[in-house]
Amino acid sequence: MEQHNLLIVGGGNAGISLGARLLRDGASDIAIVEGQEVHRYRPLLNYVGAGEASMASLERPMAAVMPPGCTWIRDRVVAVDPAGSTVTTSEGRTLRWQKLVLCPGMEEDWDATPGLREAYVDGWAGSTFVPASAALLWPALKSLRAGSVVFSVPPEPAPCGATALKPLFMACDHWRRQGVLSAIDVCLAIPGSSVLNHPSADKILEQTFASYSIDVLREARVTSVDPARRAVTIDSSTGRRTIPDLAYAHVIPLYRAPRWIADSGLAVDSSSGLVDIDPETLQHRRHPSIWAIGDGANVETRPSGGALRPQVDVLAHNLSAVGSAKPMRKYDGYTVMPITVNRRELMLLEVDREGRVKQSAPFPDLTKPRRSTWLFDRYALKVIYFRRILRGKV
Ligand SMILES: Cc1cc2nc3c(=O)[nH]c(=O)nc-3n(C[C@H](O)[C@H](O)[C@H](O)COP(=O)(O)OP(=O)(O)OC[C@H]3O[C@@H](n4cnc5c(N)ncnc54)[C@H](O)[C@@H]3O)c2cc1C
Repeated sequence: MEQHNLLIVGGGNAGISLGARLLRDGASDIAIVEGQEVHRYRPLLNYVGAGEASMASLERPMAAVMPPGCTWIRDRVVAVDPAGSTVTTSEGRTLRWQKLVLCPGMEEDWDATPGLREAYVDGWAGSTFVPASAALLWPALKSLRAGSVVFSVPPEPAPCGATALKPLFMACDHWRRQGVLSAIDVCLAIPGSSVLNHPSADKILEQTFASYSIDVLREARVTSVDPARRAVTIDSSTGRRTIPDLAYAHVIPLYRAPRWIADSGLAVDSSSGLVDIDPETLQHRRHPSIWAIGDGANVETRPSGGALRPQVDVLAHNLSAVGSAKPMRKYDGYTVMPITVNRRELMLLEVDREGRVKQSAPFPDLTKPRRSTWLFDRYALKVIYFRRILRGKV
């Protein structure tokens, strides 16, 4: 039976940067199970949806980002046996581990929103969160001159859900520059009473909603989609509303962790399916040889790529500290929420698990929209991601 000291499931941001970091720290015999041939820098998907980036610019062959020295197992995990310390793959392999790190991210729960998948196939709905539809968004939005559109911010858990405002605000800015914004009815469904749960940052968002005349439905969720009527039904704090004859619906599916996590008895609950780890040490609460980071782990903070930098750091330390005299380190729940308020400026909120601001750069206030942070987010971060983060250097 194939066996590895450390088995990582998932070759996304979490799995690749952790594998690379551990190799740099001197670890050996690391294997990554990943079935996809393409790796994506997902934050750029929102810029694709605004015509500011291409899909080719954010994609790399998986082989090019796999850390040299890691064994790449081109397969998918379908079950974990915690008692036997093995995983089973879709090709019927059994892999044994000394330590297992689960980094499979989240997946779309299409069944949770009836009609949505059909509307995506029809082409009048789509979103930057679903890579196959991201490139179709801008051609649909840029030539719009009138009509109704709906956008949604997905409820938690979701991969950096607040960034769903990026394609919305960049589209509104475009329509305003084209002189057609007043002819377009823009409705936005947000899951809470505010988006960021942070008073001064939310104030900037509220001013931005008002400046584009966006009709915001709060505590709202898209409950169904009617492809025949091009209609979206939204339940919110003000009741139920159905908006028909939509020109476009940027409705993001609900998310959950892959079902094999709950089926293997490793999830915190069956609805989110997230891996039941201690959110500070990142170790599974019942199975000490299992760990998890990233979007699929119950880290009790909003998931983001930025959150992975400290998670990788803490986990790399704790994997070597466990079983030794070294104390374990604790992840404080740091996460980021970058939002473009127009096609040239971006605001950035960095907070810990308690919602306390934790700025990583010495600027006075990163929540203030700035051209420099837009340029950093659009151009510089991608270079840092591929050259440093995925190589375990951050
Ligand atoms: C549209 C969008 C915009 C975003 N914008 C930002 C942003 O601006 N800033 C920010 O910080 N974050 C952003 N994020 C969030 C960020 O991309 C994620 O937090 C990050 O990618 C999470 O990494 P991950 O490795 O946990 O999951 P993923 O990136 O989802 O990777 C999971 C990997 O696991 C693999 N996998 C899944 N199941 C299995 C299995 N059974 N067996 C083997 N492999 C498996 C998948 O193929 C995938 O490669 C954005 C996300 C999206 C979708």
